[in-house]
Amino acid sequence: MSEATSRLKVGLDVPWVTSWSEEPQLGVGPCPSVDGELAIAQAEKPGRGRPLYSRNHLFRQRKSVREMLCPMCGQPTAEGDRWSQTGHPTTAGELRLRGFGPALPADMADGQALLNCGAIAPLHRACAEASLARCPHLGGMEDKTLKAFPTAWVVIPLWVEAKPEAPHARPVPVVSFLQLVGVEG
Ligand SMILES: [Zn+2]
Repeated sequence: MSEATSRLKVGLDVPWVTSWSEEPQLGVGPCPSVDGELAIAQAEKPGRGRPLYSRNHLFRQRKSVREMLCPMCGQPTAEGDRWSQTGHPTTAGELRLRGFGPALPADMADGQALLNCGAIAPLHRACAEASLARCPHLGGMEDKTLKAFPTAWVVIPLWVEAKPEAPHARPVPVVSFLQLVGVEG
């Protein structure tokens, strides 16, 4: 049963970026989504088994941020049609205090306004409105205003430690997800 193809449609009923139960993690390897750096790999079988709504697929998530693909439908978003539902305003100074300094350009002023989108790339307006109507979690949000995503941004790799299988091997840093921070003009 668990191998069955779901009747739920990827990109319509279930966000393209969502993991499915038939997509196990596959360990660590160089990944094109992070220019060949080591990253956590995951099987690609969207639509198989059941959707794991609270888990983004590692590769599709990184690809969505790198290539500005809408996490709902998986298609590219164009400048002017990029909208964030869950991003929140912050500043470069605040992110530096939280330890993200090395990922920000050194010459960026502390007062620079940013839109921290976490792991969620901006959506097409039509996709954002459809998912607000369908997704109970998003529907319950206090602030349902769609925020226009800026035309500039910074991508921050989120590193975790992976333990190689060889005995006594040292843990190596590998990328899990990519965090996206819009830079307000
Ligand atoms: Zn879309």
